[in-house]
Amino acid sequence: MFWWKQQVHTGVWAAFTDSSAGNLGLHVGDDAAAVRRRRGLLEDALQVPAGSLRFMNQVHSADAAVVAADGPASSQPAVTADALVSPDGGAPLAVMVADCLPVVLVGTLPGGGAATAVAHAGRRGLLDGVLANAVTGLRDAGAAELQAWIGPSICGACYEVPEDMQADATARIPELASRTAWGTPALDLAAGATAELAGLGVEAHRVPGCTREESRLYSYRRDHSTGRFAGLVWKDA
Ligand SMILES: [Zn+2]
Ligand SMILES: [Zn+2]
Repeated sequence: MFWWKQQVHTGVWAAFTDSSAGNLGLHVGDDAAAVRRRRGLLEDALQVPAGSLRFMNQVHSADAAVVAADGPASSQPAVTADALVSPDGGAPLAVMVADCLPVVLVGTLPGGGAATAVAHAGRRGLLDGVLANAVTGLRDAGAAELQAWIGPSICGACYEVPEDMQADATARIPELASRTAWGTPALDLAAGATAELAGLGVEAHRVPGCTREESRLYSYRRDHSTGRFAGLVWKDA
């Protein structure tokens, strides 16, 4: 079910699924009933209430949405955004990816609890500030001592881009600069996100794994009709 799972704060867990959890995206041409059944199995594995896990309608924007603990459940239309913030950590959150960076963020609240967030950081979202907006959402909730876990994504030796695209991206975040294993211009999204987060005062931890190289992870670059795996953050019941 999980590529990686860890307690990241008192009573708060983060995880990244693998292909054994199946495709979790409703937007990739898969059978909707099968996707909803898999989301239900995932909620069972997290030991969170059925229908409580929040997914986004992701559009490669930089928008962060705040979700209330009693807000719309997974059975209702998802909010259109590329980051979700739970101000009291009470809503289990999910971000779907297949090469883009799934990022989980946690901050400590004054009372000792945690505020949580997830972000979908592809090239576009990263350059447009989706991580900064997620961090702002957490700080607006009163959270401090922010930490981030950057999940598996396409690595800097695999993510080939045209030279002009690399130039545009590295002009904004120099740490994105990379070359493929075959010597062409590339971007290292995880390195770029780590630098971006450091600039925001957030300590980032990197979970290993290249989606294009690991068959247990979904990769759009490897297979355009692929599924989506998820980055997750949730609180113990
Ligand atoms: Zn993406
Ligand atoms: Zn790779």
